[in-house]
Parts: sequence; structure tokens; C-alpha cells
Amino acid sequence: MKIIMLGAPGAGKGTQAKRIADKYEIPHISTGDIFRANIKNGTELGKKAKEYMDQGLLVPDELTVNLVIDRVSNDDCKNGYVLDGFPRTIPQAEALDNALTARGEKIDFAVNVEVPDENIINRMSGRRACLTCGATYHTEFIKPRVEGICDNCGSTLVLRDDDKPETVKKRLDVYHDQTQPLIDYYSGKNVLAEVDGTKIMDDVFADIVKVLGA
Ligand code: ADP
Ligand code: ADP
Ligand code: ZN
Repeated sequence: MKIIMLGAPGAGKGTQAKRIADKYEIPHISTGDIFRANIKNGTELGKKAKEYMDQGLLVPDELTVNLVIDRVSNDDCKNGYVLDGFPRTIPQAEALDNALTARGEKIDFAVNVEVPDENIINRMSGRRACLTCGATYHTEFIKPRVEGICDNCGSTLVLRDDDKPETVKKRLDVYHDQTQPLIDYYSGKNVLAEVDGTKIMDDVFADIVKVLGA
């Protein structure tokens, strides 16, 4: 099953994508995690990506598209995958479609996690991220067992630089401008599924499973 997660920054795409990946035993591919790992390791890609990410802007398609297309060509993606944070622009979606079509494949579901802008700023300021394993928590809604420490790997949790309110506003603008049009794009391909992302995490997941099938 090939799944795309759509939704504003902070809508809960990553949280739900991890659960989908566990349940359906498919890889979770997050472009944000890939960029952050590159930043942490000081790679050339990381250096370039950081310039954009810190400003709340999208990393250019030239640096993003081939990365993902290579990744989904790996053996572990044979039975499907859940893409989280990609595509984020129409050209990215078209490039993905072209690559899949060339192999006789297609996206099965684009799951749009809907959360209004008013809720987003609050969610983001409470988000705490583990930059070692990619886990995310929330200071109010999804607490780690020990405050400030990742349940999975014991690393110290951080507030991402780009989760500060000024940058979140910019990211929301970029989302509405460049990413939201993908909702119509995937609706036009009859693969769009919309879920209410303001519900508690377990209920959002249950709604997603209803769509994907158990
Ligand atoms: P969030 O989960 O809050 O939406 P991500 O971790 O997905 O954030 O992305 C963080 C940042 O990484 C984005 O603001 C953007 O700068 C960059 N990024 C991630 N995915 C893409 C993509 N597909 N295209 C361009 N930039 C991306
Ligand atoms: P995205 O990948 O779309 O940027 P995340 O999955 O990282 O979003 O979630 C953003 C923040 O909101 C995180 O702190 C996460 O723990 C929290 N969160 C995710 N889902 C919910 C939910 N249904 N209700 C409340 N908080 C949530
Ligand atoms: Zn961790």
C-alpha cells in the first residue's frame, strides 16, 4: 500500500504516519527527518537544506525529488510505504507520479489530516522532537514517560528551531500557497481521504484505519 500524508505543518502527519507504518509493516519515509539527519551529520545536502528550513521555506525541488524517488525504489518499499512531508508542491507530485507510472505503480491513498490554522501554533509550540530517532511528543497532549527524554532512545528532546511561532506562521503561509493545492490534485486522482485531525490521536488513527482497511 502506497500512502501519502497531507496536511499543514503540525497537523499530526508524522504521528499518524509512524502508526500506519507499524500497523501495515511498511517504511515511514519523512523528508523532514531525512533533512534533519543530514543537518546533524553535517552533509552538503544538510547545509543547503538548513538555509531554507530555518526560514520556514521549502527546500528546492531539485534537492528533494530525486532523494525521494531513489528512496522509494529501495527493496524495502516493494510492499508499499507511507510518505510523510512529500510531496509538498505540485511539481514534486508530478515527478513522483511520473516515476511511479514508469514502473506501472501508483499511489493508493493520499490521507489529508485536517487541522485549522488556529490549532496549529499551539501544537507546534508544545512539540518536542527527538533528533536521534525522529520521535515526537507534545508537552500537553503526548507526554514522554520522563519529561524532556525520548521514550524510545533516551535522547534529550528539543523544540525545533523552525517550531518557534514566527517561523510557524511563515510555514503556514508556505503550506497554503504551495502544498494545499495537492488536496485538489489527489482528489482529481480519486485517492484522497480526509480525516479530522483535531480529534485525539487514537481517534484520528482509527479514522485512518477505516479508510485504509484493516
Ligand atoms: P512538519 O512535520 O512540521 O510539517 P517536516 O519535518 O515535514 O515538518 O519538514 C520540516 C522542513 O523540512 C520544512 O519546513 C521544509 O523546509 C523541509 N521539507 C520537508 N519536506 C520537504 C519537501 N517535500 N519539499 C521541500 N521542503 C521540505
Ligand atoms: P506533522 O508531522 O504534521 O508536522 P506531528 O505529528 O509532528 O505533525 O504533530 C505535531 C505536534 O502535535 C506534536 O507535538 C504531536 O505530538 C502533537 N499531536 C499529534 N497528533 C495530535 C493530536 N491528535 N492531538 C494533539 N496533539 C497531537
Ligand atoms: Zn529518540
